Amino acid sequence: MSDRPVARWAESALRDLSVRGLRRHLEPLQCGQGARVTVGGRSYLNFSSNDYLGLAGDAALARRAAEVLATDGLGSGASRLVVGDTLHHRALETVLADWLGAPAALVFNGGYAANLAVIGTLVGPGDIVFSDALNHASIIDGCRLSRARVVIVPHADPAALDLALAAHPAPRRLVVTESLFSMDGDAAPLSAIVDLCEHHGAALYVDEAHALGVRGPDGAGLVAELGLADRVDVRMGTLGKAVGAFGAFVAAEEPVIEWLVNRARPLIYATSLPAEVCSGAQAGVERIRSDPALRAGLLSNIRYFTTGLRALGLPAGPESPIVPIPMGTPEQAVRASTRLREAGFLVKPIRPPTVPDGTSRLRVTLSAAHHSSDLDGLLGALADLEFPR
Ligand code: PMP
Repeated sequence: MSDRPVARWAESALRDLSVRGLRRHLEPLQCGQGARVTVGGRSYLNFSSNDYLGLAGDAALARRAAEVLATDGLGSGASRLVVGDTLHHRALETVLADWLGAPAALVFNGGYAANLAVIGTLVGPGDIVFSDALNHASIIDGCRLSRARVVIVPHADPAALDLALAAHPAPRRLVVTESLFSMDGDAAPLSAIVDLCEHHGAALYVDEAHALGVRGPDGAGLVAELGLADRVDVRMGTLGKAVGAFGAFVAAEEPVIEWLVNRARPLIYATSLPAEVCSGAQAGVERIRSDPALRAGLLSNIRYFTTGLRALGLPAGPESPIVPIPMGTPEQAVRASTRLREAGFLVKPIRPPTVPDGTSRLRVTLSAAHHSSDLDGLLGALADLEFPR
């Protein structure tokens, strides 16, 4: 036991987490990213990554980044507005805007930073954000930091959004939703949300973190798939999930991008994304657009796995690479995850505060890099588990 105050605070907080089954631990991979990973000296099939297309460990993306590393070096030196802006950032932004069919795009250091940046720039004190009840923590934090009033809207419920918009007038109103929800894998009712925003004169911000590379023409996301690109004010996509790199971006009209460049604190006050990451991410986007077999492979894995889940009598929602398996208590989720791990499968338990109390779960994520025999293996291991009914 330490005598220092902060160490004592930490010990007491950690004890509390342990008692509630909510303690978490870091576990280093002993290899690169892929469908199979080594942890603690043992090889596992990996069903916990957001690397939906298997590009994170791809050699061609790494080569594109390495070319820039070799010529320009590692660091980016400063924020974009100082001397951290490069032609690699610009080239990536051009490709991203073209991909999403948007007038312009702006790169951020991650989706977390982008959500703080966008919400904090678009709204402030006196304004209102209407935020879906299951939105990601980075959206929740963006809402809090903006100091706008926050109205939480029941999950994926257009009738509730309609009532909320009718009941809460303000000079600026922003509706925020994910397109594919990160922990449930379901899709937001975007067409209805777009209609409501237009009807009530509210702006719309859509976080496409989990839909990018997965849904839509060329993997351009769910907004593009539904033909809504011109009716959504701002879209955000991450580069660290299906794109296989790191970072994020926002796609919008030119004045919105200029406003973000001038006001978004996570952009102005942070060292920029390194150029080699921009170049690797650009290679990821180009690969997704030129290789439809990647997305087709993911889709066929999704269909295979969800068919197998239904055969086990387990809930299988809409077609999505994110498949939640409800467990209930944190202890049940941890126990199920440990059993799967003993059988050679890495499926991390997801517990509060990432998900609401009472909804701890296994979150299975599928990738184009999985083979059908990998999916058969996991289905077999799941068949041996006890599930709360
Ligand atoms: N939005 C959503 C919906 C996410 O799931 C995540 C990451 N898990 C983020 C934003 C944050 O993105 P990043 O990891 O690039 O910071």
